[in-house]
Amino acid sequence: MNKILVIDLGGTSAKCAVFADNKAMLLEFKVKTEITNILPNLKAVISEQLTGNGMLWTEISAIGFALPGFLDDKTGVVTLASNLGWKDFPIRQEAEALFQKQIFIINDANAAALGEFWNKTDQTIHSLALYTLGTGIGGGLILNDQLWTGATGYAGEFGHGGNFQNEFPCSCGLEHCIEPLSSATGLTKLINRKARTEPNSSLGKLAHRLRHSLGLGNIKSLLENHDQETIAVLEKGLEPLAQHIATLIYVINPALIILAGGVTNLGPELLTIITNLVHRVTGKFLWKTFDLKISALQDKAGMYGAAYFAFKNLNLL
Ligand SMILES: [Zn+2]
Repeated sequence: MNKILVIDLGGTSAKCAVFADNKAMLLEFKVKTEITNILPNLKAVISEQLTGNGMLWTEISAIGFALPGFLDDKTGVVTLASNLGWKDFPIRQEAEALFQKQIFIINDANAAALGEFWNKTDQTIHSLALYTLGTGIGGGLILNDQLWTGATGYAGEFGHGGNFQNEFPCSCGLEHCIEPLSSATGLTKLINRKARTEPNSSLGKLAHRLRHSLGLGNIKSLLENHDQETIAVLEKGLEPLAQHIATLIYVINPALIILAGGVTNLGPELLTIITNLVHRVTGKFLWKTFDLKISALQDKAGMYGAAYFAFKNLNLL
């Protein structure tokens, strides 16, 4: 049985796991990200975990890294990962020297898309798109069973570009991206603006009762009770996302569209809102051509994807 160690590295912690080639997750643990000493600290903690669980480094065929930010998988260099403090960092070379293993690197949102692809239950699916709806918006695309990274590796940046909204400017420097409105950050701004400007609305009353500004987790019960005011606020925030999804459906005709990230904790009611919004801007003949659903793997998808990426590159699957 071949085994891959995966490290899904984020600014605060790294999600680590050991996978077998039959997709079994044999071991899973988290390591705090020590910004000034990221790789050596990872190696020390991982070594402890392996030893503590009766595993040896010699059992690990290779290491798959899922990384935030822009990276060049041909040269193995992280061009920019601001929350890790890395700029033009030769991660593959550094990690190979330190771990003495073959290293595979992949963008974390792309890894999540691959993870969902590896885990899909319907084997007739050969194309899918993944949207991560967290503090920002990222994505990944699988076309013809392959990860599509584009001409220069930037494919799947669903959060940016275009003219989808006029509400909030984007941190990328553009004005009308979907990210500043349809992300958790944007939706949270909208619900609090409603609560503040309309104290007699259901959101206003909720904020008054809780005595603090609202998070998305606070509005779940309003949604479950089909509160129309709350649904209307979410529709405003999610409309740019729905327009983006509709455009993607016309452009690539994906069989499956998966939504992941913090926003999707709002559950089935959120899915209903997004589905209805997508239907409003998509021809009826296309409604049955795609399945739109919330990720079951959620924040584990990146680990599955990094493992699949390494196994595939080693021709072990
Ligand atoms: Zn942007």
